[in-house]
Amino acid sequence: MRIVAEVGSFGARILHFRRGGSSGQAMAALKTMSVLHTVSSGTRRLVPPSPCLLPFLQGFNGTRSGNRLLGAGCWPKLFHHATWCSRIRADAGVVVSDASEKEFQSGAFVDGFLGVQSEEAGRELTTSEIIFLGTGTSEGIPRVSCLTNPDKSCPVCLAAAQLGNKNRRRNTSLLVRYLAPDGSLYNILIDAGKFFYHSALQWFPYYGIRKIDSVIITHAHADANGGLDDLRDWTNNVQPHIPIYVGLRDLTVMAKSHYYLVDTTVIMKGTAVTKLQFIPMSEEPFQVHGLKVTPLPVWHGPGYRSLGFRIGDVCYISDASEIPAETYPLLENCDLLILDALRPDRSSSTHFGMPAALEEVRKIRPKRTLFTGMMHTMDHHKINTFLAKLLESEGLDVQLSFDGMKLPIHL
Ligand SMILES: [Zn+2]
Ligand SMILES: [Zn+2]
Repeated sequence: MRIVAEVGSFGARILHFRRGGSSGQAMAALKTMSVLHTVSSGTRRLVPPSPCLLPFLQGFNGTRSGNRLLGAGCWPKLFHHATWCSRIRADAGVVVSDASEKEFQSGAFVDGFLGVQSEEAGRELTTSEIIFLGTGTSEGIPRVSCLTNPDKSCPVCLAAAQLGNKNRRRNTSLLVRYLAPDGSLYNILIDAGKFFYHSALQWFPYYGIRKIDSVIITHAHADANGGLDDLRDWTNNVQPHIPIYVGLRDLTVMAKSHYYLVDTTVIMKGTAVTKLQFIPMSEEPFQVHGLKVTPLPVWHGPGYRSLGFRIGDVCYISDASEIPAETYPLLENCDLLILDALRPDRSSSTHFGMPAALEEVRKIRPKRTLFTGMMHTMDHHKINTFLAKLLESEGLDVQLSFDGMKLPIHL
């Protein structure tokens, strides 16, 4: 059994059970999927209960690659149904990939399905945890321009377009799931950037995340706050409002960039915009649902401040080119450092490159480090292989994070 195709900018995917895959395997797979209910690979019949998948399948109808991939003559009734062929051909970025049986069994393949819940979704948390909703730089990985480049010269973006590949990265964002002493669970989001909707679309159903109790903003760039408008789905349909903790200087910027969210008096009556409660913060520690959050001021380019945050012994710094002297004491005795590392060779004017980020790790000496904010020159497996050697040579435990990564933390 192999997974052979995925379609669409939203990451919706098709699974195809090749001839030869047993119906037992297919049925086992279906237990993890909410979209398809019945596939019988033995008779090559597909009975999708949800019309939402049909247009995606139709996108392959009659195309050479479709016939090759799905098997000409396979499921003819499905492919010739006229109502299914409306729109998906225009959905850019059709990607063909093979995923291994191992990936399939691990559940990595389901990450692009709309609304798919994993087994994680129903579980009850016994400890707080963090989930990386995004680990990439502003334009996202893969870059569209790398996929359309006729030279096909960017191996990382080509890999990132593959099913379940860890080079696929959206804007940096971290979800802290805080299990309070009284047993209440709070979902605290750090940043909602331009790709927030896509991150949430993939990971909220996957991990069974329903509400957003608070958002904390690192700085006023679009890849950190460009998704605030999309929170309307939550405030219209899940909860009455969302508190947004934001630095005063960033709130001043957002009063221009997000004027109708900050000053709701300008909204036309009856318009359903997201209901946010902006709470200005200084660089002093503050409480969110009883959890202490300590801002970690850093330079994100000359003269421009961004905030990292310390929660328990986890320190998160997604956008930094320099750490000022006064911030180092706040980073002492850090169990997990999550740090900006844009590219393998050098820093930019606004972000640490990997050499500078590693120098910071040597200074700060956390127990463990995960890099974030990587651009398309950071190949997940190659860089991690390189970094793994530092554990032997220097005792540095450093790796790249990836979208969807989940870790338990103690708060
Ligand atoms: Zn690229
Ligand atoms: Zn930024």
